[in-house]
Amino acid sequence: MLIRGGLVIDPASKKLGSYDVRVRDRKIVAVEPNLTALAGEKVIAADNYIVAPGFVDIHVHFRDPGFTLKEDLASGSRAAAAGGFTSAVCMANTDPVIDTPEQVYKFYQRAADLALINLYTVGAVTYDLAGETLTDFEALKEAGVVGFSDDGMPVENSALAREALERAGQLGLPVITHCGQLSLVADTIVNEGAVAKQLGLKGMPTTAEDIHVARDVLLAQLTGYQVHIQHVSSATAVAIIRAAKTAGIKVTAEAGPHHFTLTDAALLEFGPNAKMNPPLRTEADVAAIRQGLADGTLDAIATDHAPHTEAEKAAGLLAAPCGIVGLETALGLVWTELVKPGILSPLQAIAKLTNIPANIVGLKKGTLAPGADADITIFDPHEKWTVDPDQFFSKSKNTPFTGRTLSGRVKTTIVGGRLIFTNGRIITE
Ligand SMILES: [Zn+2]
Repeated sequence: MLIRGGLVIDPASKKLGSYDVRVRDRKIVAVEPNLTALAGEKVIAADNYIVAPGFVDIHVHFRDPGFTLKEDLASGSRAAAAGGFTSAVCMANTDPVIDTPEQVYKFYQRAADLALINLYTVGAVTYDLAGETLTDFEALKEAGVVGFSDDGMPVENSALAREALERAGQLGLPVITHCGQLSLVADTIVNEGAVAKQLGLKGMPTTAEDIHVARDVLLAQLTGYQVHIQHVSSATAVAIIRAAKTAGIKVTAEAGPHHFTLTDAALLEFGPNAKMNPPLRTEADVAAIRQGLADGTLDAIATDHAPHTEAEKAAGLLAAPCGIVGLETALGLVWTELVKPGILSPLQAIAKLTNIPANIVGLKKGTLAPGADADITIFDPHEKWTVDPDQFFSKSKNTPFTGRTLSGRVKTTIVGGRLIFTNGRIITE
């Protein structure tokens, strides 16, 4: 396969320019100007497009096993492919929870049978995400987890959180933490403030998140091991992480497209489809997240793709489950909200979607360097399109971006040298 005429942006090898990309035997073999097509080589024209390493999302919920009405490994990986993601790390809050080696083996077996992209899983930090007993980290690592997380259920016990960091650190894997003190949630998970008041809710303050972020970076300092903070939503949390990095603490962090795009005012228009955990916050928080992404305090962009059925989201703001689908709108939001206004350069933006997240969980992914697996995303940075959830490949349609016009659209996704998505269609064979 020869990808010809595109603008190659590969942050990992600091390459930016007009190059052709040759793929052979599932690997990248050459990235050079003006390559000539060989006999029998399939040529993909990428004129006016950007050719990037396949995107890596280190935070998705594919709901498999247990909640496959919302999503499964097949539908989730189709949504990922349509969004330009060639690798994704699934969270452990399935039913059963991914908390034993047997569950991890089953996950990889199902992924081998069903997934179009490279799928990985974390293992739970505590059995059943109950925050009480640590899982067998060594056995889970042996089975193939890329980190440990109780995402959705913060580990409240600090002694346990410390031990988790030590055990994971000794195995060379990160603890990936969802920060939010459950004891500070007043009635439901919306931001405490003017919008909540208008809706007749009390909600949760950013303090619930900030306390937990502060504790986790202090535990990282105490233990000397890496902690990764998920979906940062608060200005104070950004400031804490920035100070921690300045102090040399091993902390990495991610932000989701919804948290750098929307405020809690979206609840007034989109109701439960704008309810997520941590919640949408204020203008000042959005500005701080953008700044944090720009100055490197927030290392990576991750979607927290969290599908729910229409019936569940129809339960009203108090009762509806938290989360939105994110894979198919991520690139458009990154380009429209961060690159076009000049907050991130194209190189920075692609780094936050490729080699940086891959490094956080130790995956050898996210580069177009010769010898790398041929995972490639080709996108049109200029194409404008309007978000229509009925066009999603995800089983779920819960998004607060319906009707929004975005710039930047994925044209072709290649995984291990195999074309899996092109011009709006999934290619299964
Ligand atoms: Zn979470």
